[in-house]
Amino acid sequence: MGSRGPAVQLLQTALSRAGVYEDAADGVFCQSARTAVRAFQDANALTSDGIVGRDTWRALKPYLNRTLTYAVKPGDTLSALAARQGVTLGEVLAANPLIADPDYIFPGLILTLPWPGSVITSAIAYSSEIMAANIAALQSRFGFLECSVAGASLLGRDILYLRFGRGGVNVVYNAAHHANEWITAPHLMRFIEQLCTAKARGEELLGIPANRLYDLLSLYAVPMVNPDGVDLVTGQLKPDSAAYQQAYAIRGELPFPSGWKANIRGVDLNNNYPALFEKGKEEKEKLGTNRPGPRDYTGSHALSEPESAHMVSLTNAVNPALTIALHTQGREIYWRFESITPPGSLRIGEAMAAASGYTLTDPPGASYGGYKDWFILAKNRPGFTVEAGQGVNPLPIEDFEEDYKEVAPILMAGMREILRSL
Ligand SMILES: [Zn+2]
Repeated sequence: MGSRGPAVQLLQTALSRAGVYEDAADGVFCQSARTAVRAFQDANALTSDGIVGRDTWRALKPYLNRTLTYAVKPGDTLSALAARQGVTLGEVLAANPLIADPDYIFPGLILTLPWPGSVITSAIAYSSEIMAANIAALQSRFGFLECSVAGASLLGRDILYLRFGRGGVNVVYNAAHHANEWITAPHLMRFIEQLCTAKARGEELLGIPANRLYDLLSLYAVPMVNPDGVDLVTGQLKPDSAAYQQAYAIRGELPFPSGWKANIRGVDLNNNYPALFEKGKEEKEKLGTNRPGPRDYTGSHALSEPESAHMVSLTNAVNPALTIALHTQGREIYWRFESITPPGSLRIGEAMAAASGYTLTDPPGASYGGYKDWFILAKNRPGFTVEAGQGVNPLPIEDFEEDYKEVAPILMAGMREILRSL
């Protein structure tokens, strides 16, 4: 009782999908949540103690994943099972990648049967734990979606990336470099989910056949570059932890933790890349930022932070034709670095702007050391920073659905245009 945070929100989401909880997923474990847990336990032959232990959590998992485990009975066909679930045969096959021949199933075979609907929890604070649960849900539904680890954050959290596609043209999309811009993580996750769903169903997404994208492209998506910082802002990092208290000690004048952009030791990751780094450091020092804090500190040297170093390693290994880094806010797209305008980047940037209504422009004031700055400088290929949504960071999660309608076409336009240019 009284537990708080994203894990409680995740639990409340699962309970409401299970039909036993009707209140908001507010992240506070109160009496109504406990009653719901008891009701769920009663209905599932679990010890009715109102405590979410291992067995209860395991029984709730299918509601987070929107899948059920099913043993084939005599007379079943995959088509009939799919119809009963309200999904396509393709979606059932995507969730059961070991089935070589859809006509050959046998009684007793254990299947994962998906239900329709999104598994991305876009209505709650998106901590690294919530994202990991969402990734597990996507992988249970889409056997073709790969997940790997780019490296570890300062606090040892995995920096996860997903790969959609088997094609030879690579693109890297990333989100949540900045802690209080964590809403960009569910944007990228929702986009991946929509791509996977469209592929499994053999449909188009935003006018492009998803199977064609899958065959021609490989999308590497890093939905949370800065998991420690995101966990600080979303409340997953508890106030009694040493990491929280170290951040608190250098919080400065900004609201805490909602004003925090940096990684957990106070380095602004999007100033830490080797793109005129020294010049950027001098500029920030002139403005009075010369030590760790909630935003704008460049770090002592380029790639001093594991998170930015892992992004450079991954990007070099993938060697993409295009990158997009999702930030908030301002409804703008930044497309060049200094006087460098990589071939194709104006055309692609204009297509992304046209698809969203965002403005293709340059950042206000001098800007160095960003991910896209480094990518453009190092590769001379199209790299973009997208400032999604409008308002004060962190943008409220209530903005998510409206903003996603503009973000998804930008992400799709990038891939469409890079294919067109080949
Ligand atoms: Zn940002």
